Amino acid sequence: MAGRPKKEDSRDNQYRVRLNDDENEMLDYVSRMTEKAKSEVFRQALTELYQKTKLAEARRDFEGEFDQSEEYEPTWEDEHVSLKRTIDCPYCGHTHMMDFEDDCETSSSERSMGPEILYEFDLDDCVCEKCGKQFRVKGFICEYPMGCYNHEDIDVEPIDDEEDDGEEDD
Ligand SMILES: [Zn+2]
Repeated sequence: MAGRPKKEDSRDNQYRVRLNDDENEMLDYVSRMTEKAKSEVFRQALTELYQKTKLAEARRDFEGEFDQSEEYEPTWEDEHVSLKRTIDCPYCGHTHMMDFEDDCETSSSERSMGPEILYEFDLDDCVCEKCGKQFRVKGFICEYPMGCYNHEDIDVEPIDDEEDDGEEDD
């Protein structure tokens, strides 16, 4: 590509972001796999979250026009965040595709932009497709506002039935 033409909306706002090691690894990975500059990854993520937040706001305002007794008919289907994740076997590292949709407890609490939804799961009967060992996947995914990913914490722990070598969790 030739030199960029000067544009009216030049990017002269600067924002510094601190990342921990995990976040930095995620940024490297997304940048590498999507062949996008790291700055572009941030801009794209921002744009996506902006659009979703605008939708959540419109929905909240729309629902707010109904009083409790009226029948509420949503203008569009509820769109929630994906609960699909890749989970690596804690023994051999084999990657599994898992969907927590059917195996989670859902709870919600009202906030200013509508409900914050918490999906919690604790699956202690996962079996690795490759090495056949059993492991546990425990954690939660939080959605707020509706349709927007907020944060998550997912732990994968080995469940070693066969041998007791005296190792203890701390
Ligand atoms: Zn395995």
